Amino acid sequence: MATLSTAQTSDFDQSVQPPHHPVLLAKATEIDFGRQDIDKALRIASALQTTLDIQKIIEIFIFEVRRWVSIDGAQFTYEEQQLNLSIGHQYDNSLTYPLSIPKQALGEITFMRSKRFTAAENKTLKYLLCSLVYPLRNGLSYEKALQAALKDPLTGIHNRAAMNTSLTREVDLARRHQTPLSLIVIDLDYFKRINDTLGHDAGDQVLQHVANTLLDTIRGSDMVFRFGGEEFAILLTNTDKKGAMQLAQRIRRAIEKNAIKLNEEKIISTASLGAACLSADDSEKSLFQKADKALYAAKAAGRNCIRFR
Ligand code: GH3
Ligand code: MG
Ligand code: MG
Repeated sequence: MATLSTAQTSDFDQSVQPPHHPVLLAKATEIDFGRQDIDKALRIASALQTTLDIQKIIEIFIFEVRRWVSIDGAQFTYEEQQLNLSIGHQYDNSLTYPLSIPKQALGEITFMRSKRFTAAENKTLKYLLCSLVYPLRNGLSYEKALQAALKDPLTGIHNRAAMNTSLTREVDLARRHQTPLSLIVIDLDYFKRINDTLGHDAGDQVLQHVANTLLDTIRGSDMVFRFGGEEFAILLTNTDKKGAMQLAQRIRRAIEKNAIKLNEEKIISTASLGAACLSADDSEKSLFQKADKALYAAKAAGRNCIRFR
């Protein structure tokens, strides 16, 4: 049976915790903990200050909590940043605690085990969670900054830096698992004309519109990037030439069909596409170069078409 409880952390508003950690001391007095328990909690607090990595913060916390309360598994979720981390095993007996500091929700943590939790354990967990919230807040801010550095602010999709990282990782994985990998690069045709005739703002709206068209056209496992001004790329895991060409055709048609209406005027964009598949002697760089050369051939062939290399 699941039990829901709330960690009372909202009454503490210190954003930086000095070494003696007054929040833990105050809470310990309230719950009537002994000196030994307070020392243990202070040790957790300092262990948590050693990293900004959310996964590690949760792992350290669970490792330390296990000295007090037996736990078989735990789960941390923070929807705002699409974080969902699991440790150990899932069991029916669980305790879930919403985590927060003043003016900021920090997701929720669930502890699980095969045996029911007691009221005393619930109290202990609430106490220990006081040492988690501020390190967690710091970790979440860091994670948010990392994610922002990989996103294109105009369209909200991943940028060139993210593409380079994903290309390296996926080429490595495809090699190791001997699975096909394809790349499609997309460049809007005569895009400069839109800026020149309708203005830069209109150009920006067209770029956002095309990014949404791409997101609507791809599968969940495909990755989409804006790696240049009006240049996009799609990385297709587990996809061979046939699959890549099918998707490229779908994308070309969708961009052409999905006109955007700006000031009562219908703007039709088209794109040229280059596709390539990873072969045995390719690096991530040569895979990209092959797709880019194919794109160049599509431009030379008159635009609004696809070429494969
Ligand atoms: P082609 O068919 O050969 O690709 O022609 P093109 O006009 O699309 O290509 P070109 O490279 O000459 O022009 C790309 C234009 O994209 C030029 C640049 O001003 C514009 N651009 C790049 N980034 C942005 C952006 O963020 N917003 C807007 N509105 N325009 C951008
Ligand atoms: Mg271009
Ligand atoms: Mg272009």
